[in-house]
Amino acid sequence: MFCEKCGTKMPEGSRFCPECGAPAATAAQPAQPPVPPPAAGFSPQGSAQPDGGSKNLALGIGIAALVLLLAGGGFAAWHFGWLGKGDITMEAAAKQEAEEVADPIRASIPMGTGNVNRKLDEKLTEKFLRIIQGDWYDSKGRKLVTVGDTQINDCKIEGIYDLAGGGGLAGGTFRLQENGQEWDVRLDWNISKSDLDSLSVNGNQTLHRTADAAADLETVSGVCLGMTPEQVEQKLGKPSSNLGKDNAVTAGDYTFSKGWYYPDKGLIIVFGNGSVEGIALLKGSKLRFEKSGLNCQSSLEEYAKAYGLQRTPQLPKNRYMSSQASIGNGQTLYFGMDMEYVLLSIYAT
Ligand SMILES: [Zn+2]
Repeated sequence: MFCEKCGTKMPEGSRFCPECGAPAATAAQPAQPPVPPPAAGFSPQGSAQPDGGSKNLALGIGIAALVLLLAGGGFAAWHFGWLGKGDITMEAAAKQEAEEVADPIRASIPMGTGNVNRKLDEKLTEKFLRIIQGDWYDSKGRKLVTVGDTQINDCKIEGIYDLAGGGGLAGGTFRLQENGQEWDVRLDWNISKSDLDSLSVNGNQTLHRTADAAADLETVSGVCLGMTPEQVEQKLGKPSSNLGKDNAVTAGDYTFSKGWYYPDKGLIIVFGNGSVEGIALLKGSKLRFEKSGLNCQSSLEEYAKAYGLQRTPQLPKNRYMSSQASIGNGQTLYFGMDMEYVLLSIYAT
C-alpha cells in the first residue's frame, strides 16, 4: 500500500506513513501476508508446519492459550504443593510468552515477499551487515533484534535485496530462512555511531543501540528524536493537520512541507524512516526544550551556555544560509532566520 499524502510505499498493516507520518487509509485490509515460521521453541513438538496466515494466527493463539492454561494449572499445582522446584511457573511462562511475542523478525508482518529484484553481492552484504551488527532495543528496553555475521535473531540471511541508500543511512529487504521457510523483513537504518542510531523493522518499529536511548536526549513535551508515530501520538495526541506541499508552514528561512502540525502548541514533528527526525518549536510557542528550558524567545547566548557550545551560533541572514549547532548524541539544533523557529534534528549538514 502507498501513502495517500506523499506516495511512499508503506509496510502492509502500518498505521502511519514512515516518511511523512500521515495516517494510513483505513479502507483496504491488507491481504494475509506470507507467514514466517513460528519462533523456535514455541511450537509444540511434532506440530505441523503452518501453511496459512489465519491458520498460523489461530495456532499461535491456541499455543498462547495452552501456555496460559499450563501456567494457570502450574500455578495451582504449585500453590497446593503438588509440584516441586523447577516446574513451570506463571512468571516463567509469562516471560517466555512476552519474549516470543516481542520478536519482530519472526512475528512482524513482512512486506514484499516475492517482490524483490536486485540481490546485493556477497562483499556488500558483509559490509552492510557489519554496519548494523549487534543488539537492538525497543523503547521499553527489550532486546528485540540481534544482527550477526550471517543471521538475524538466529534466522539465516539468504540475501539483502533492493538496497537503497548507502553506508549508515540505508535500507533493504532481508530474505530470511528458518526451518525450510523463507520470508522477507524490511530493515532501514540510520547510523552515525550515536545514541540516536536506529534500526526500523518493517517501517513500524524503531529500535536503538541502547536499552535507554532516550534518557540523554532533548525532549519537547516528552517527545524526542527517534520516537515512533505511535509514541508521539501518546504524548501529544493527534495533530491538527498533516503538512504537505499544498499546506506547508513557512517559518523564517524554512518551509515545513511534511510532518505533524500542532498550531496551538507552535510545534511541528517531522518523520522519516519510521521515526521522528525533526522537532520544530515555532516562534510564539510556549513549549520549551525540556533539558535546557529554552525556546524561540531565548537568546543564542543562552543556547551556547545551556548546551556547552564552543561558540555562540549566529542567525542566518537570508533563506540561503543556515545556522546549526551540534548538541551531542547525534542531535543538531537549527536556528531559523529571525528566530522564527528552532529545529531539533537528527541531520547535520
Ligand atoms: Zn507519506
